[in-house]
Amino acid sequence: MKDELVRAMTEDGLVNAVAITGRGLTERARQIHQTMPVGTAALGRVLMAASMMGNMQKCDDGSLTLQLRGGGPLGAVVAVSDAEGNVRGYVSNPQLDLPEKYRGHLDVGTAVGTDGFLTVVRDLRLKEPYVGSIPLVSGEVAEDIAAYFVQSEQIPTACALGVLVGTDCSVSAAGGYLLQLMPGAPDDLIDRLEANIAAAGAVTPMVEKGMSAWELLQTVLAGMEPRLLETCPVEYRCDCSRERMERALISLGEQELREMIDSGETQTLECRFCDRTQSFTPQELEALLREAK
Ligand code: ZN
Repeated sequence: MKDELVRAMTEDGLVNAVAITGRGLTERARQIHQTMPVGTAALGRVLMAASMMGNMQKCDDGSLTLQLRGGGPLGAVVAVSDAEGNVRGYVSNPQLDLPEKYRGHLDVGTAVGTDGFLTVVRDLRLKEPYVGSIPLVSGEVAEDIAAYFVQSEQIPTACALGVLVGTDCSVSAAGGYLLQLMPGAPDDLIDRLEANIAAAGAVTPMVEKGMSAWELLQTVLAGMEPRLLETCPVEYRCDCSRERMERALISLGEQELREMIDSGETQTLECRFCDRTQSFTPQELEALLREAK
């Protein structure tokens, strides 16, 4: 089954909802970054959250960057989404191996840590991006995302994210949802939503059973007549290019470029987000140096 993202709204217009299945994009991230299970789970959760938030932003050509820096042994976890929800990302320490919190439960919270911040950068194609940040709550990601929306954007939000890593370390299932209450939502609606979420249980077993993104929303919005607004395929996608790498090299400045050229060696640069590399001979670097001047 391909990854997909769905958006829906309840009949009364009071709950805005989005859900994702992300086994493919999380597995692609694992292959690129060679993450161990706890890194796979953390990165998968952050990628799926960024995807939903990027799609919800509804800004053509916009992008959204989600960063968790909690001071834990995994280091930073970063994901970038385009306007549709295609994502790319990385973790600082993909090789981190932690014992399970309890049987079958990867300890993402300890890996990410709580001594730091969750930061959201919204590029809405305006002069300046919008940046919001909150102290991390648990490092488990979903809880931190919900806290971000409540504290930073004053939107009551429920979020669930789950990644199941198989015994061979590959991703067997991944998915999540994000529910937001519109202004004016009455208390009994909130109670009903909370009861639905509790009855549905953790999201990992739901996607493990093969539920689609739409089925996730139908479950947590049961009795609220959700209307499907959009279904959109999403994937792990990096937009790096040789031109972009050239600009990055130029931005290093004259001195560093000069040192690379003087080493006489071809420089091979790796993209931070994917497995593509670009090589530059000393002659090509000379040309960039001329541009830099
Ligand atoms: Zn790339």
